[in-house]
Amino acid sequence: MNSTSQIPYKIYLSESEMPTKWHNVRAAMKNKPAPLLNPATHEPMSFDDLRPVFCDELIKQELDNDNEYYDIPDEIREFYKMYRPSPLVRAYCLEKALDTPAKIYYKFEGNNTSGSHKLNSAIAQAYYAKKQGLKGITTETGAGQWGTALSMASAYLGLDLKVYMVKVSYEQKPFRREVMRTYGASVTPSPSMDTEIGRKINAAHPGTTGSLGCAISEAVEVATTTEGYRYVLGSVLNQVVLHQSIIGLETKAALDKYNITPDIIIGCAGGGSNLGGLISPFMAEKIRGEKNYRIIAVEPASCPSLTRGKFAYDFCDTGMVCPLAKMYTLGSDFIPSANHAGGLRYHGMSPIVSQLYDDGYMEAVSVEQTSVFEAATKFARTEGILPAPESSHAIRVAIDEALKCKETGEEKTIVFGLTGTGYFDLFAYQKFNDNEMSDYIPTDEELARSIANLPKV
Ligand SMILES: *Cc1c(COP(=O)(O)O)cnc(C)c1O
Repeated sequence: MNSTSQIPYKIYLSESEMPTKWHNVRAAMKNKPAPLLNPATHEPMSFDDLRPVFCDELIKQELDNDNEYYDIPDEIREFYKMYRPSPLVRAYCLEKALDTPAKIYYKFEGNNTSGSHKLNSAIAQAYYAKKQGLKGITTETGAGQWGTALSMASAYLGLDLKVYMVKVSYEQKPFRREVMRTYGASVTPSPSMDTEIGRKINAAHPGTTGSLGCAISEAVEVATTTEGYRYVLGSVLNQVVLHQSIIGLETKAALDKYNITPDIIIGCAGGGSNLGGLISPFMAEKIRGEKNYRIIAVEPASCPSLTRGKFAYDFCDTGMVCPLAKMYTLGSDFIPSANHAGGLRYHGMSPIVSQLYDDGYMEAVSVEQTSVFEAATKFARTEGILPAPESSHAIRVAIDEALKCKETGEEKTIVFGLTGTGYFDLFAYQKFNDNEMSDYIPTDEELARSIANLPKV
């Protein structure tokens, strides 16, 4: 081990060093993310247009491209203190195993029961719903990370929660479902027969096992037709990136403590919320020309929205009830192939991340799932943490960059986001361990087919 180093294995901030404000990267952006559009009229969604769907305070945050900082309410900070500040870990053991001169750090967001960074936004969204005097909230969940996070936040605040869970996950992934129920959420497999859109989808596709886009449509329908309820979403939206900036602010504070400047910052990208949050304060410095970080988004080769998608307005959901968002997208009816096991399966990408990528402030790479699980295994065996498959996309590219440093002899500092743990993803690990995992990369024709169905805006 590197016992002579000044840098500890874990850089912790004290509670009093925890950020008191979230950072809104949009304030620094020269080209702001495009506004959400009404799906019927194609007019930008105003505050009033969004009120039936979202909580008032969250709409303000969603539409605010100007204020760089938002005070984190005391009640949310109190909750954060149960599991934050999260550690920034120096991956000494991984560096040694790779025999690289690179210095690798990871920000670990898995130290809470829901097992991922999603709790950072879940508590914020639940808090504003409660403050508005609402009775409850609705949402969708795929594999269940967002649903478990929101069920923890809702239980803490005494808020009712209705989760629409993609049917195939509801049936095949009972563990997160039971965590949600333990925290008091009602969990319904989607498409259900409870909603108009669910009945329509079930009639059109008998026996369908559901999709995230379909579950979103159901959750929105229930929120807008039930008195005292609103809908909340765990990624993609500007407000979620705002809340997740706590990751980047803590990372920066921890690095600053030891005068460390990263060369490369890496995050996995599904809907873009952890990546957007991790890079937020660093990106602002880059845009202002103060620093020149290399920033890399990593996505699955089987769901490559940034690297192979189109930057255009698209539906956020299958039922086409949600506002249109301008984002890198594969088309709202794109569904990753059945053998895809590693999460990050949303068809679109956060409008903030999409705009920053389009403006050339960051790179994107796609990686195949077997190489992701190889990296996950290497990481588990050296650093001890069993990583979430999603997080392991970032591990893959961090390892690749560290190996490049080995060739060139450069002592680069690499920081990546370790978004969560993989305890509930062991079916995917089983597939990998049994050599039954394969890679599937969609053909250009397949992508062209779903991209051809983008709305004409
Ligand atoms: C949901 C999730 C992601 C991907 O979501 P983003 O919005 O892209 O951050 C990544 N890692 C874990 C562990 C997750 O649960």
